[in-house]
Amino acid sequence: MEKTDVDRLRTLDREHMWYPWTPMTEWMARDQLVVERAEGCWLIDADGKRYLDGRSSMGMNLHGHGRSEIVEALVAQARKAGETTLYRVSHPAAVELAARLASMAPAGLQRVFFAESGSTAVETALKAAYAYWVAKGEPQRSTFVSMEGGYHGETLGTVSLRGTNGEQVDMIRKTYEPLLFPSLSFHQPHCYRCPVGQSSDSDCGLECTDSLENLLTREKGRIAAVIVEPRVQALAGVITAPEGHLAKVAEITRRHGVLLIVDEVLTGWARTGPTFSCEAEGVTPDLMTVGKALTGGYLPLSATLATEEIFGAFRESVFLSGSTYSGYALGAAVALASLDLFEKEDVPARAKALADVLTTALEPFRALTHVGDVRQLGLIAGVELVADRETRAPYPPQERVVDRICTLARDNGVLVNAVPGDVITMLPSPSMSPDDLRFLTGTLYTAVREVTEE
Ligand code: PMP
Repeated sequence: MEKTDVDRLRTLDREHMWYPWTPMTEWMARDQLVVERAEGCWLIDADGKRYLDGRSSMGMNLHGHGRSEIVEALVAQARKAGETTLYRVSHPAAVELAARLASMAPAGLQRVFFAESGSTAVETALKAAYAYWVAKGEPQRSTFVSMEGGYHGETLGTVSLRGTNGEQVDMIRKTYEPLLFPSLSFHQPHCYRCPVGQSSDSDCGLECTDSLENLLTREKGRIAAVIVEPRVQALAGVITAPEGHLAKVAEITRRHGVLLIVDEVLTGWARTGPTFSCEAEGVTPDLMTVGKALTGGYLPLSATLATEEIFGAFRESVFLSGSTYSGYALGAAVALASLDLFEKEDVPARAKALADVLTTALEPFRALTHVGDVRQLGLIAGVELVADRETRAPYPPQERVVDRICTLARDNGVLVNAVPGDVITMLPSPSMSPDDLRFLTGTLYTAVREVTEE
């Protein structure tokens, strides 16, 4: 792009744009990163500089940019019909996709309700769970239980699920509190900062799940569902659960006769190993949400999958929920093309091989003076920084250590995210090459060292 064109864009950006989760004064004070195009896992800015996308556009990008198979499916569907809406009209792509999702999901999740984003898929699950209990004659079951630090989206319903944990979560809850519905939360399995005071892995008997047991006993008959991110809470700081934790949560939930919602919006599509993370512990929820990489990241589309038991409660009535774009044809066609690639290129095997490369590449971080913990599940990884390794004390927030590291990494050609709790997260696409992945971790390692040991 010509320099004058870039300057013009930056001026318009300062005058008109409003960015999500972004301190705007700071944003406007510097030259914005204007990504003009992308190749594979690389983003190319308007000045021609290349950045390796270590966050795969927030966990969306599954096959890399510019895949002709997906572009062709998009164009072919657009030529036929861009959208028809699913309001009392069907179309082939949505039906094929529903059947495909049912065939890939844990057995029993046979019904598919489409939406556009992860947040709206979770909203659908919440409404379906509550309406299920109403249909069953138990309308008093109106409370939802989530895990501390859990992240399920940005709508008021999904923000209502935020357990209080971490600085950003508290801030968001506090800001919108009067608009939210009450919900309850149980301990997260944060082994580095164990909520029940266990000091080593060998002592762990999953005692943190006692808080769920106690809560469900205390609130008997009032809980609609328990909702969890399966095996890892990415946005809470890559909190990786010990083995068996999800299965235990599922067992407790079932024993109390409460519905289980598993939110696979980020963990789905092999990001943690199996196609869906809950499969690793043999858990089949009552409702499961998918989004992000469902279309390979090419279009927004999400889905809520339900068992026949849940759907059965609505068979004779009507589920009062939906939106204009539910299951739109373009999104469904692109998702089908993405799932073709997912199977043809065996993305789970590729993700697993790349996760092994990541494990090795993360090892050197552990020796850095200010790295407290390194956590990883598949292609979700986090490096927690601490001011003092002995006491695990965090840095004073005004030092903005993780922000400075992310900025330095960015200047050196790598994009990663910072989340509350001074954790830098990496969400590489399974399509990233091992060499690129090592460039990502190597660049981040240098940035961490420079900022923390300066
Ligand atoms: N659930 C989980 C587990 C997520 O990670 C996210 C997004 N990061 C969402 C829901 C919300 O998805 P969206 O941003 O598409 O609304």
